[in-house]
Amino acid sequence: MPEETIFRKIINKEIPSEMLYQDDYVTAFRDISPQAKTHILIIPNKLIATTNDIEIKDEILIGKLYTVAKNLAKQEGIAQSGYRLIMNCNDDGGQEVYHIHLHLLGGQPLGKLVTL
Ligand code: 5GP
Repeated sequence: MPEETIFRKIINKEIPSEMLYQDDYVTAFRDISPQAKTHILIIPNKLIATTNDIEIKDEILIGKLYTVAKNLAKQEGIAQSGYRLIMNCNDDGGQEVYHIHLHLLGGQPLGKLVTL
C-alpha cells in the first residue's frame, strides 16, 4: 500500500489550505508555492501515488479531475486566455508529493514550457 501524504491532511481539512472545490471524489486547492498567478492543484480523494498507478477502474475519476480543472479555470477567469494542465510523475518528472495531482497554471503567458 502506498503511504499517505500531506494531501490526505488537506483533503480531511486537518491542515489549512485555500480549498476551492471538494466533492466525494475530488478536492482542489491553491498551491502553497504558486508558480503562476493562478496555480491550483486538483487531486483525487483516493490515494493514487503516481500516474503509473492509475488503473482502468480509475478512468472516470481521472476524467473528473479535468472537468473540475476546466470549471475552476472558468471560475478563475482564465478559460479564454488559456492555461496549462500538468501531472508530474516520479523523479525525472519532478514529482514531490506522491498523491497524483493535476497542476492548473494560468493567469499569465506561460511560454512553451513551465518547469515546476
Ligand atoms: P509536484 O512537484 O509533486 O508535482 O507538486 C507538488 C506541489 O504541491 C508543489 O507545487 C507544492 O508547492 C505543493 N504543495 C506541497 N505541500 C503543500 C501543502 O502543504 N499545501 C499546498 N497547498 N500545496 C503544497
